[in-house]
Amino acid sequence: MGKETGFLEFKRTDNIDVLPQDRIKNFDEFHKALDTDSRRKQAARCMNCGVPFCQSAMNLSGMVTGCPLHNLIPEWNDEIYKGHDKHAFNRLHKTSNFPEFTGRVCPALCEKACINSQNGDAVTVHDNELYLVETAFKNGYIKPEVPSIRSGKKVAVVGSGPSGLAVADELNHRGHIVEVYEREDEIGGLLMYGIPNMKLDKSVIKRRRKLMEDEGIVFHTNTNIVAGEKANELLNSFDAVVLCCGSKKARSLPIADPEKVKGVYNAVDFLTQTTKALMKADSTSVEALEKQGGFISAKGKNVVIVGGGDTGNDCIATSIRHGAKSVTALEMMPNPPKERTDKNPWPEWPKVLKTDYGHQEAIYLYGKDPREYETTVKTIAVDKKGNIKQIETVKVTFRDGKLVEVPNSEKTIKCEMLLIAAGFVGCEDYTAEAFSVRRSQRGTVLTADDSYHVAGSKIFCAGDMHRGQSLVVWAIAEGRACAREVDEYLMGYSNL
Ligand SMILES: Cc1cc2nc3c(=O)[nH]c(=O)nc-3n(C[C@H](O)[C@H](O)[C@H](O)COP(=O)(O)OP(=O)(O)OC[C@H]3O[C@@H](n4cnc5c(N)ncnc54)[C@H](O)[C@@H]3O)c2cc1C
Ligand code: SF4
Repeated sequence: MGKETGFLEFKRTDNIDVLPQDRIKNFDEFHKALDTDSRRKQAARCMNCGVPFCQSAMNLSGMVTGCPLHNLIPEWNDEIYKGHDKHAFNRLHKTSNFPEFTGRVCPALCEKACINSQNGDAVTVHDNELYLVETAFKNGYIKPEVPSIRSGKKVAVVGSGPSGLAVADELNHRGHIVEVYEREDEIGGLLMYGIPNMKLDKSVIKRRRKLMEDEGIVFHTNTNIVAGEKANELLNSFDAVVLCCGSKKARSLPIADPEKVKGVYNAVDFLTQTTKALMKADSTSVEALEKQGGFISAKGKNVVIVGGGDTGNDCIATSIRHGAKSVTALEMMPNPPKERTDKNPWPEWPKVLKTDYGHQEAIYLYGKDPREYETTVKTIAVDKKGNIKQIETVKVTFRDGKLVEVPNSEKTIKCEMLLIAAGFVGCEDYTAEAFSVRRSQRGTVLTADDSYHVAGSKIFCAGDMHRGQSLVVWAIAEGRACAREVDEYLMGYSNL
């Protein structure tokens, strides 16, 4: 266990954030690592509490708390404290394929369940994880591991987001021949085109791709699998086909259709274009992006974002870097409390206010929190050329379980760009239709209970396409569990 008295001796210290005034000048990652000595002290704060809720992934009151990968957190904290980084990394790698992704973007379900957080500050599990994987890359602990024997079985994975990559990684190491099909020009799914560069530098995904290729996985990018020849080819020439195509069907806003109103965009399209332009630019500075051009720009505009969550926050931060005149984020839910209430005790997932990096930047730049709670768009107005110019908002509240408008609460605000970040309603129709898989009312692919297998076929499904819109850590957990089932299907047993 770390150090017996570590949690009493050392205060929690997070990775150091570059200040908003400096970080909004570029699209660089802004969490700077602690020095090694400080990191060991942070690991020493883990008290090996005996019942490590941090690695439990328990469902309490309808929400999961603790790590969905069941990462062996107390073990590797102890090893970090003792300076055994290589061993610590091996223990982390046992349960997690891509700690470099979760160490950057995971909301740290583990820390919410850390016993230290009951009466104080949780262990910095998330930052410790990032330290371990980056140390492992730096010191050469991570090398291509090519299986010595191949099974001869062939698996096609459609979609290269975190779930598809986890399926591919597991099955390749097991000795199967794995080919991944991705419609975009780069692999990574929403890790690549969705989550902005400030949260996850795209070189991190390219580094992982190179490693996976060296281990034998074949990636076919720019390959959209559609009904007919392409889908049939996969079904005919592979022993199993795993669908990991995400939950990309954006929830629509009937009064503001991006197809019909100029200046209205789906959040992911907006974020993707910025990343694509940035990857072609000379550097990650805001000037280099502007010079590069070819993206949906918020420069000089009053931006309104409909919807909160990670996506809304990423849109705020990206709009700020473009040079938006103002940013307003509309949230239908009420402003959550700053601290846990009695109805939401530890170790439940805390339903508390989170002021994320984009919110902090908006507070710095515009002098106020951009979020307007219990508010939605009621009407929009366009100019003669069909460009959005203003919106009317209205306050909303839940009455008898229904969302209703608050009378006379309408407000008009200027808006030359409206971004829809209202979530997703399942996988896209064409992919599900290409493989004739049935879908639930939530738009997810139907499989047998507690299974990833589409009954009576050689098709499997994992990640957001199976679970619905979720998190990177869940996509990896689903990918791992799905791979085990595919392996059983192919071999009659599995040691994954
Ligand atoms: C803006 C944004 C920010 C987010 N931020 C976070 C965060 O900070 N932390 C976090 O944990 N989660 C975050 N999430 C959620 C997280 O990114 C997803 O839960 C996760 O990426 C799902 O992984 P996946 O592999 O199931 O699908 P995806 O990542 O969506 O990948 C699916 C892939 O399949 C490909 N594909 C689809 N159809 C086809 C086809 N027919 N042929 C070929 N390829 C196809 C797509 O191009 C895509 O690459 C965020 C989501 C968004 C939208
Ligand atoms: S993957 Fe997420 S929940 Fe699991 S240990 Fe890492 S930060 Fe915590």
